[in-house]
Amino acid sequence: MKIFCIGRNYIDHAKELNNPVPSSPLIFMKPPTALLKDPQVFYTPAFSEEVHYEIEVVLKMTKNGKSIQPAFALDYIEAVTVGIDFTARDLQSKLKTKGHPWEIAKAFDGSALVGSWKEFEKGENIDFRLEKNGEIAQKGNTSNLIFNFAHLICYVSKYFTIQKGDLIYTGTPAGVGPVTIGDDLAGYIKNDQLFNCQIK
Ligand code: MG
Repeated sequence: MKIFCIGRNYIDHAKELNNPVPSSPLIFMKPPTALLKDPQVFYTPAFSEEVHYEIEVVLKMTKNGKSIQPAFALDYIEAVTVGIDFTARDLQSKLKTKGHPWEIAKAFDGSALVGSWKEFEKGENIDFRLEKNGEIAQKGNTSNLIFNFAHLICYVSKYFTIQKGDLIYTGTPAGVGPVTIGDDLAGYIKNDQLFNCQIK
């Protein structure tokens, strides 16, 4: 099982971190050990002073595929939810400065929170949000994606065989920020709460 993540896929988020808007999807991966086994608790790692939340719509793949064509791409989506791409921003900033890979900042244990799965409906724009301590911290709609779901699936499968059960984190909108011990994070698609997580 692979976890693909897309960076800078909403213009407003690329701008808030002073990053250029990409001309093709920016892909990185997390290992299966990054999956947060109990999504109700996230333990802040000792190696970072600044872990950020990034709410993202997450897709689960339903079958294997390679070099998938656009007309068939959405048939590969089994289900959809929201998750958090936890990011050790302090480490990532240092690595970016040096031009080094991001893995220790992005792919550490527990860095991929995933919510409860919902049925995927083709053609529907997904309204989603993150609430921190009961207040809206981030909100987005997939109509604002720079690269839409079909584009992402085609692009990822050009380089990597997609396998049943793989996940794609489709990018975060603006509003990312640090977590603090004691925070309560809740992720929603429309009015369905799909996860609730305590930061410890
Ligand atoms: Mg992200």
